[in-house]
Amino acid sequence: MKKIVFISRLDNKVQLQWLSCLRQQLPEETILLPEHVSEDEFQYVDIAIVANPEPSVIAKFPNLVWIQSLWAGVEKLISEKSLQHIKIVRLIDPELAKTMAEAVVAWTLYLHRNMPEYALQQRNKQWQQLPYIAARDTRVGVLGAGNLGGTSLKSLQQLQYPVSCWSRTPKQLEGIKSYSGNSGLHSIVKNSDILISLLPLTAETHHLLNAPLLTLLPWGAKIINFSRSAIIDTKAMLELLESRHISHAVLDVFEHEPLPVTDPIWSNPNITVLPHISAPTDMSSSIKVAADNIKNYRDFLIIPETVNTQLGY
Ligand code: NAP
Repeated sequence: MKKIVFISRLDNKVQLQWLSCLRQQLPEETILLPEHVSEDEFQYVDIAIVANPEPSVIAKFPNLVWIQSLWAGVEKLISEKSLQHIKIVRLIDPELAKTMAEAVVAWTLYLHRNMPEYALQQRNKQWQQLPYIAARDTRVGVLGAGNLGGTSLKSLQQLQYPVSCWSRTPKQLEGIKSYSGNSGLHSIVKNSDILISLLPLTAETHHLLNAPLLTLLPWGAKIINFSRSAIIDTKAMLELLESRHISHAVLDVFEHEPLPVTDPIWSNPNITVLPHISAPTDMSSSIKVAADNIKNYRDFLIIPETVNTQLGY
């Protein structure tokens, strides 16, 4: 009798692929798109599986017990007043963490080995060898040491970068300096040649990297934002890029996505624009995670505790 609804804003063809994969993993369940649930059946829907859903569609189902997100970032769902009585389970997938760690390594190397400068030199037919700085002399700071940050830190460590992290609660990670609290934030920023954000967007992290904090970065530092745009005060970052205090920023996330064609960020030579690709959700592994969570709920009524609504992540 119980039913599951799959709600997304994916394009129709992609949405049907997800639906078919979900049904294969959970053959004993009835999984429907919202438009295929009749009004009489609304009451039987107890789980929603979502991928960037329209919150008003979720709110239609009066007896929803929990929401399984196929995305790791759930700040929009958490902040939605109409959903505050429903438990939200975010995606915790080792495959996603591996994908993010790969991106962290790729773009850290890109910055460390001066690829933006060499790309510009090539465009200008300029042959100039820049000084080589070893990985062991390039300090990398990672803000956020959770599912994605934790795996990324280990990958960076394997490349001999001196790595440190900042999180709400201190971590014990061999060979990695762990900071927490406000003074810890100041210390990590002051000591990072490359600073990477893997923090969730919450009331506390909104505009966390503002002008006073970004000014603490060493002169010529580089930043990577793979989490959410609003963690950085864009205006402050642009001013520091202009003065060259920050020499380059790799941005994968923006306030408005897709980044509007009129946005001057597109043509800023000190910014690398990525179209939110650092860690796309993997269909088969994420559906396996979701299916295991759903089976566990059906068998033992256990809902994984992955989101603390008080903390906002
Ligand atoms: P997570 O496991 O919840 O980890 C979050 C980390 O941030 C934890 O270490 C947490 O500290 C720390 N943190 C949170 N609030 C803090 C605060 N106020 N002060 C200090 N540290 C704080 O999250 P995740 O799975 O790693 O994902 C991180 C974010 O990545 C997501 O929220 C999403 O926005 C983004 N993301 C982006 C992409 C992309 O393609 N661009 C893909 C997936 C995810 P504790 O360890 O002490 O709890």
